[in-house]
Amino acid sequence: MTATPLVGVLALQGDVREHERALQVSGASTRQIRLPEHLEGIDALVVPGGESTTMSNLALRWGLMEPLRELVRGGLPAYGSCAGMIMLAERIVGGRPDQETIGGLDVTVVRNAFGRQVDSFEADIEIAVLGQPPVHAVFIRAPWVEQAGEGVEVLGSVPTGPAAGKIVAVRQGHLLATSFHPELTGDTRVHQYFVEMVREQA
Ligand code: GLN
Repeated sequence: MTATPLVGVLALQGDVREHERALQVSGASTRQIRLPEHLEGIDALVVPGGESTTMSNLALRWGLMEPLRELVRGGLPAYGSCAGMIMLAERIVGGRPDQETIGGLDVTVVRNAFGRQVDSFEADIEIAVLGQPPVHAVFIRAPWVEQAGEGVEVLGSVPTGPAAGKIVAVRQGHLLATSFHPELTGDTRVHQYFVEMVREQA
């Protein structure tokens, strides 16, 4: 791999362009993934925010689910934001009965966890690996991590309010996930951290 890793962004649905921009600013090149053949040669994968039930359906319909599972199981670095976090989770609470995920991340996530009334909320999250200042996080019908396995490192939690202590950023080896959308705020530290993970893995 060159110093410029090629990151595939799952482009079935969701905020694909925003992730591509953040990745490019962070030193990666990007490719939109819509079909299994688009996976050829990528160094990493990003699963964007959007609607995880729709993403799951489309991934199944286009024959992407199995190849994605194999790649992620095989060690391909992957980052999921919001719906992307749900797609990378092994277990979902509040999913549709037929909802499937790519999995890999040993966590249980709760969909729409912040409450159906609260469409979106914002908070400053301390994420030690990203340094100061805290990340200004935007949550949109976001999930949180209810339970994390032993190999999962908690990177950030909600500091105050009704959701205080809820886990919203995790890493497990080559997998990274956030409940919030750093691709929407112009703060590229999460994407930079991910691109660094990808370089280290290579
Ligand atoms: N609620 C959405 C889902 O369950 C996630 C929302 C988002 O990605 N902003 O997939």
